[in-house]
Amino acid sequence: MATSKPKKKTIRTIPQERARMLVQASTQRVENFEEVALGFELDDALNESERCLLCPDPACVAGCPVAIDIVGFIENITLGNYRRSYDILTDANLLPAICGRVCPQEDQCEGVCPVGQTLEPVAIGRLERWVGDLALAKGWSNEPYIEPNGFKVGIVGSGPAGIACAADMAKTGCDVTVFEALHAPGGVLRYGIPEFRLPNRVVDAEMQNLTRLGVKFECNTLVGRLFTVEQMLSDLGFHTVFIGSGAGSPKFMDIPGESLHGVLSANELLTRCNLMGAGDFPRHDTPLDLGDRIAVIGSGNTAMDAMRVALRLGAEKVCCVYRRTRDESPAREEEISHAEEEGIEFHWLTAPVEILGNENGNVRAMRCVRMELGEPDESGRRRPVEIEGSEYEFEADTVVYAIGTNANPVLGQTSKLKLNQWGYLEVDENLATSMAGVYAGGDIVTGAATVILAMGLGRQAADSMKSYLGIRDTENVYRPQQRGCEGKLFGIDLEEKNFTRLRLA
Ligand code: FAD
Ligand code: SF4
Repeated sequence: MATSKPKKKTIRTIPQERARMLVQASTQRVENFEEVALGFELDDALNESERCLLCPDPACVAGCPVAIDIVGFIENITLGNYRRSYDILTDANLLPAICGRVCPQEDQCEGVCPVGQTLEPVAIGRLERWVGDLALAKGWSNEPYIEPNGFKVGIVGSGPAGIACAADMAKTGCDVTVFEALHAPGGVLRYGIPEFRLPNRVVDAEMQNLTRLGVKFECNTLVGRLFTVEQMLSDLGFHTVFIGSGAGSPKFMDIPGESLHGVLSANELLTRCNLMGAGDFPRHDTPLDLGDRIAVIGSGNTAMDAMRVALRLGAEKVCCVYRRTRDESPAREEEISHAEEEGIEFHWLTAPVEILGNENGNVRAMRCVRMELGEPDESGRRRPVEIEGSEYEFEADTVVYAIGTNANPVLGQTSKLKLNQWGYLEVDENLATSMAGVYAGGDIVTGAATVILAMGLGRQAADSMKSYLGIRDTENVYRPQQRGCEGKLFGIDLEEKNFTRLRLA
């Protein structure tokens, strides 16, 4: 019997509307820390997967920093092969439920989806989240048989960069230990991004994939103070080290009043709430007394998170103070509109000039000036210019800084690693630092970026570390023809001795 070939999909034949995702109502969600975006149901996922044109040369894959086979995973949703879909995702990305939630997809995979030229692009991130959540619900995991190869790998920092590198090294058979300064692993995924955007149960569950690969975590371990990077290579016997220590050191503006009680960084606010349970005080022993009126300076994702956390902690009024307009705001559109719906007050074109205190040294108000946009600056954005005589004050009990971060300085201070002029680790095109055997990636190299970019660099560094150790893998083989030595190097058969440490002088 002749079987009919499936018809080729076109922009006209696919579902025209993007499947909608349920969200908690804004009036309800400001009262709790539960997740705001509730994810797809099965029907939504099936419907949305039908919108993928299954392009033979998919632009979205190039748009994803870890090059997930996006067409493959979406097609398998349509076919009902959900487990296969999960396997495809985790070939490239161990954390689909996390990335599906927090990746800025509009600038990455979805930003280049051809459907987006006519309709709304395929909701790749939401589909990825759906598969990731299904895997967590079903308890799926990928646990390959791994042959130990005798190499010890040390990773500094358990954020996305560190764990992506750790996973790749563990898969090749290395004995991998991740050192983390805080008391729980995950980096910004744990201490920065709040529960209502990325629940800790999702972080916990996906981090377990690392443990299944044999990765060990040593928390409460500040590398540089307990031992140095040099000592990791000498005394502790690591054959190679990856540094993914992030950019968690907050910036301030150096205006009068910053030492008043009630001035803090967004990182401190978020860490106290997300990692130390301040939202659950006194059940958790971390108080966070913000008062009623909170002013947050900055308008990136971190600022949005800090403001929405403050609201949920019971603040009466939360304002965003930003010197440019909404159009120039670096936060994701979805985060700004969620913040607006929740009642955050936005003071666009406003810059603080002084924080004012009361007789007890507590913050009582902020003095600001109004701005207007002038000529474009070196970043191409129009420069904010102060409007003369526009100074005004508004009352605030707490002022939170969310104007960016710098590199974590400890490793630079305690090792001979070379830094660039901004204090980030200097690396070459293979992500090798100035110290032999030590590689780096993520925010400590690029400055504050995104989860998936950090993961991409963690994986790229892992490739270089494998080459450094002489570990053969399918993408990184020491091929005899490349070296003109007919299958043998120092008498060792290159195809067979996969885990022999061989490097040419
Ligand atoms: P990090 O995640 O910062 O992890 C570094 C880890 O190293 C930390 O756990 C730190 O404690 C540890 N460490 C540092 N020094 C040492 C040491 N000496 N010894 C041992 N451990 C050490 N990106 C997105 O894509 N989407 C988002 O929605 C998003 N929201 C964000 C919200 C907030 C509040 C913040 C702060 C960032 C957000 N980002 C987002 C950015 C993203 O989280 C980061 O780019 C990413 O986490 C960087 O990963 P990393 O592994 O380089 O560093
Ligand atoms: Fe898109 Fe991020 Fe998923 Fe890559 S990891 S496909 S960029 S959502």
